[in-house]
Amino acid sequence: MRILIVCDLEGAAGVVDFRTQTYDDGRYNEQAKRLSTLEVNALIEGALEGGVTDPIVLDGHGSGGLDIEHIHREARVMLGRPQRSVWEQGLKIDAQFLYGHHAMDNTPDGVLCHSWSSRNITNCWLNDKLIGEIGFNIARAGEEGVPTIFLSGDRAAVDEARCYVPDIEGIVVKEGLSRTAALTLSPAKARDLIREGARKAIGRVGSIATFTIPSPYTFVTEYQAAASAESRAAREDAERTGTHTIKITGERLSEIAQKR
Ligand SMILES: [Zn+2]
Repeated sequence: MRILIVCDLEGAAGVVDFRTQTYDDGRYNEQAKRLSTLEVNALIEGALEGGVTDPIVLDGHGSGGLDIEHIHREARVMLGRPQRSVWEQGLKIDAQFLYGHHAMDNTPDGVLCHSWSSRNITNCWLNDKLIGEIGFNIARAGEEGVPTIFLSGDRAAVDEARCYVPDIEGIVVKEGLSRTAALTLSPAKARDLIREGARKAIGRVGSIATFTIPSPYTFVTEYQAAASAESRAAREDAERTGTHTIKITGERLSEIAQKR
C-alpha cells in the first residue's frame, strides 16, 4: 500500500512562531524542522505497522520543513523546487495523509494560520467558498480519486479538515491561544498520538469517503498588498477583480494549483 504524506511545518507540537521557527532565517528553524521530521517519522512508523509499504513524503513547507538527514529510512521524499506534481508521476496512491497542517488565514486561535503565504495573502476562495491549504489539498487528492484519511496539527486545523472529511483521523497536538501561541503537547507525546492515529487511519482506508468539489473552478486570491494583485494580474491567465484580488479559472484543480 502506498500513501502520500503532505507535510507542513506550522502544525508540529512546539511550533508557534513565524519569525523564529517557520521562516528559513529563523533562529530556531532547524530545531522546528527536526521536531517536524520526528513527528513525520512517528506517522510513518504507525503507517508501516498498519500495512503501508511505500510511504512517500512531500515537503509542502515553502522554504523546506524537513530535515532529510533524520527522515525515516523507509520513506521516499519529494524534495526541491520547482517540482512536478506527485499526481503527474503515474504512481497509484491509496490514501493521503496531511501532516503538520495549519488552518486558513483569519481563523480564531488558528496557530500560525495563513492561506499559502503568511506574508502576502489574506484570503482565498474556491467557487465562492473560503478555502485554505487543508481544503485544497483534500479536494486535489479527491480529484484523483484519493481519500484523505489523516490530519495532524492544532485544534483549528483538525476542525477545518472535519468540514470536508467529518470522520478523518484527526490528531490535535496543540490548542491555539492566539495566532502565535498555543498550549502544546510535548513533542514526545505528540509523536505517540500521531503514530497511533496513523496506524488507526490505515485500518480505516476504504471506509473514509473521498471528498471532491465539482468542476469548473474559480479561484480568487486576496493579497495583503494591492501591488501584488497588480503584478499577478499582469499575467494573462489571471483577471483582476478588485484592488487586492485576482481570479483564475480552470476545469481541474491541477490546473488551478499550477496557476495559483
Ligand atoms: Zn508551511
